[in-house]
Amino acid sequence: MDAKDDKDPERARIVVVGGGYGGLFTAMQLERAGQVTLVTSEPNFLHTPLLYEYMSGEVEAWHIAPAYQELLGERIRFLQGAVTGVDFEAREVEVAGRVRTLSYDYLVLAVGGVTNFWGVEGADKYAMPFRKIRHADDLRARMIEALDSIQPDAPPQDARRAATFVVVGAGASGVELSTKMSDLLYDAFRRRGLKGEPHVVVVEMGREVVPGMDAGIRRVAERALYERRIEVHTETRVVKVMPDGAVIEHGGERQEIKASGVVWTAGVRTNPLVEKLDVERDRRGLIVVEPSMQIKGRPGVFALGDIAAYTEVPPSLFGTAQLAFQESDLVAGNVQALIDGGVPSRGHFKELGEAVSLGTDDAAVLASGQVVTGQLARQARFALYTTRLPTWQHRLKVGAAWFFGGKTPRPLGL
Ligand SMILES: Cc1cc2nc3c(=O)[nH]c(=O)nc-3n(C[C@H](O)[C@H](O)[C@H](O)COP(=O)(O)OP(=O)(O)OC[C@H]3O[C@@H](n4cnc5c(N)ncnc54)[C@H](O)[C@@H]3O)c2cc1C
Repeated sequence: MDAKDDKDPERARIVVVGGGYGGLFTAMQLERAGQVTLVTSEPNFLHTPLLYEYMSGEVEAWHIAPAYQELLGERIRFLQGAVTGVDFEAREVEVAGRVRTLSYDYLVLAVGGVTNFWGVEGADKYAMPFRKIRHADDLRARMIEALDSIQPDAPPQDARRAATFVVVGAGASGVELSTKMSDLLYDAFRRRGLKGEPHVVVVEMGREVVPGMDAGIRRVAERALYERRIEVHTETRVVKVMPDGAVIEHGGERQEIKASGVVWTAGVRTNPLVEKLDVERDRRGLIVVEPSMQIKGRPGVFALGDIAAYTEVPPSLFGTAQLAFQESDLVAGNVQALIDGGVPSRGHFKELGEAVSLGTDDAAVLASGQVVTGQLARQARFALYTTRLPTWQHRLKVGAAWFFGGKTPRPLGL
């Protein structure tokens, strides 16, 4: 590195890496605390809980993926780029394609996770991940392509074969995705006058769907899958993914499913950047943090969200936006405390409730121990997620668009 960013002696240099729930919300809270730089690899934030609704056309890209440039005030410097390394001794961050390093006084790492294919043969090549806007676009395009390949007079079994999709994983993600896909495909069959029906298959390694979630939510999710004629295989592993389907294994028996697409929702692993950092990690590869969320042995350096192992977190909260969101308050408060010469505090994170969408016209929300379903739950879920959007200006714009414009799905192929 041939040069370093100049230091303003008056203001603390705070570098935040990763613009998800952890990083973006921390950076926004610190905008007055010092010279804040947010470095992140994509140009847009992503409100992941509504990625299914984007795929179905119920919401638009600008609703859930606003550009950082629009969200961040002038006080925060935005740098689009992938961080490739951190020199903790020199207090510098390397960004791909950038000669100058970024110097920091305080560093916040929030680079999130990536899809975990668990080394399953062919999965990284042929399975479709579902974590980004482009993944949702790819899946939608794949469904349209499959429908377009069906001749109008095709026999039902040929139509079903062409409209077969496998969803790997029956956590909240797999259930939300498969029910949306099923509703869209059935709707397309009706509109196109195709004979027969589509075929959505869900494969889950565990004994039940939405493992770890409330039993009431599980019952509703099971009913939603059943009503949509989604084929659910529990205690079943995907052992191979091919360009035209997948091989599954249950009780030692293998079965090949021919499909037009295999979508992978079955796991997240920490961002590869974390493996390159000279920090202590636990057996899951997560960064070990102190109660203040500073990385163990690295004062002034914080980690949060999907990459951090905070000991006092209820297991069901791990790997959720609601945790990253709550941790951002603690990290922002503690960076400010260090700047002010104060003592950082510890965090207490709580479960803020459970909500899943079920197809394009239903949802289940757990509120005060009661499961609410149907249109009411669907509207409540939208209302809840409006409040989680990053800025009040964006919340207002999106809330108005949903209120006045509605949230009807966009049919496949139209
Ligand atoms: C489809 C989907 C639906 C979900 N639904 C829910 C839900 O309903 N409720 C819930 O609580 N949670 C949900 N989650 C989980 C939730 O999105 C994550 O737990 C949360 O986003 C974690 O926040 P984070 O800040 O740790 O990481 P992320 O939000 O993943 O943000 C990481 C950021 O870092 C950037 N980045 C990555 N590598 C680099 C690098 N090398 N340099 C610079 N920037 C980098 C990324 O582009 C990204 O902007 C969902 C996740 C997905 C994928």
